[in-house]
Amino acid sequence: MNESFDLIIIGAGPAGSAAAFTAAQEGVSVLVLEEHPKIGVPLACAEGLSRSTIEGYLQIQPDWVAQHLAGSIVRSPQGGEFTIEYPDVGWILDRKKFDPALAAIAETHGAVLKKSVRAIGIQDNEVIVEEDGATNKYLFRYVIGADGITSRVGRWMGIDTRLSTGEIEVCAEYMISNISVNPQYAYLIFGSKYAPGGYAWVFPKSEHAANVGLGLSPSKTKENAKSFLDRWIEEEFPDGQIEERVFGGVPAKILKRFSGNNFCLVGDAGRFADPLSGAGIANGIKSGVIAARNAVRILKGQKSRLESEMKAEILDEIRWHHRVRSVYMKLSDDDFKDIFEIAEKIFGGVTITDINTHQLVKHILLSCPRLLKLGFKLLF
Ligand SMILES: Cc1cc2nc3c(=O)[nH]c(=O)nc-3n(C[C@H](O)[C@H](O)[C@H](O)COP(=O)(O)OP(=O)(O)OC[C@H]3O[C@@H](n4cnc5c(N)ncnc54)[C@H](O)[C@@H]3O)c2cc1C
Repeated sequence: MNESFDLIIIGAGPAGSAAAFTAAQEGVSVLVLEEHPKIGVPLACAEGLSRSTIEGYLQIQPDWVAQHLAGSIVRSPQGGEFTIEYPDVGWILDRKKFDPALAAIAETHGAVLKKSVRAIGIQDNEVIVEEDGATNKYLFRYVIGADGITSRVGRWMGIDTRLSTGEIEVCAEYMISNISVNPQYAYLIFGSKYAPGGYAWVFPKSEHAANVGLGLSPSKTKENAKSFLDRWIEEEFPDGQIEERVFGGVPAKILKRFSGNNFCLVGDAGRFADPLSGAGIANGIKSGVIAARNAVRILKGQKSRLESEMKAEILDEIRWHHRVRSVYMKLSDDDFKDIFEIAEKIFGGVTITDINTHQLVKHILLSCPRLLKLGFKLLF
């Protein structure tokens, strides 16, 4: 007789673990399947997390944090820089501690976590897995697909999760030591020389080490992300020691459907990453929590509020950011220059406690007739 669980979660990244601890806390039986032997390894992430995006969903513990951030240093394509002073804006996490810690919280609440177990299909109400060289099946009443950007759960449940070249940011990133950086600021670098249709970053892990990477749109260049990164690192950090190399992608797509009667996709699998910043940790956790909360309601015979909660908590903002991204993708380096001059006037010499992107975009568009032409539709 196959083992049976109320809820099976496929993938133990932040989204899957958040779903697991949320549901386990409510007393339903939860099984989490993770294909790798170690949670959080391998990892494709710069580990940045802004406080405002996660508030109300997760209390960040000191030992998950590599660096506390006090703002950002923004660089224009022409090389100018300005600083956004934003105390307590967020953190550079240590995801090799963070991801296992979230999975451990789920286990503490009673979730069963099986590592080195790979889901290979779903048939009726059974997940088929490869486990210890054998094929096994686990019965579920509800299943959550938290299997990341390369998700197959969606396809198994009849959802088209394919990403076209315009719907993905392709990323290359190295963890570099033997460099000198201000550890309190995340560097954000814009322009076609570094990352066409995206941006480059230096996210400090200490004074002498950082995640240095970039995400670009393959619809904007034929050259691969690694070439851009190698060229930039050679120029910016010639003496840097490359400790780790990661390559991956961030989805920038809204699915027509992310759930059904007995399943939901969350995190990158559900295409919930922020299409503008490429940040997926916070929305992964939020979508995991919301999906699990509503799975529990369904399992207990109550009415689900999945669609409305996802919309209010995540999708409204994602939709807005998609619209901003569509304008962002059209910007030239000269447009960036204008935007930088406007942004420098807004942020220079002040300390902020919040950024309202609607107001910021409106202000920038209204300050420059060329940009207003490009982004007119964003205002209305
Ligand atoms: C280079 C790069 C830098 C990034 N930097 C940031 C950043 O600074 N901040 C930020 O917020 N986001 C960042 N992101 C995005 C972020 O990493 C993801 O959005 C986030 O990890 C998504 O979490 P998740 O739980 O949905 O998926 P994942 O973290 O990808 O976890 C999915 C899990 O599912 C498991 N899995 C997959 N298939 C199966 C299967 N068939 N059976 C069992 N297990 C399976 C995988 O092993 C994995 O553990 C970055 C992405 C890239 C590529």
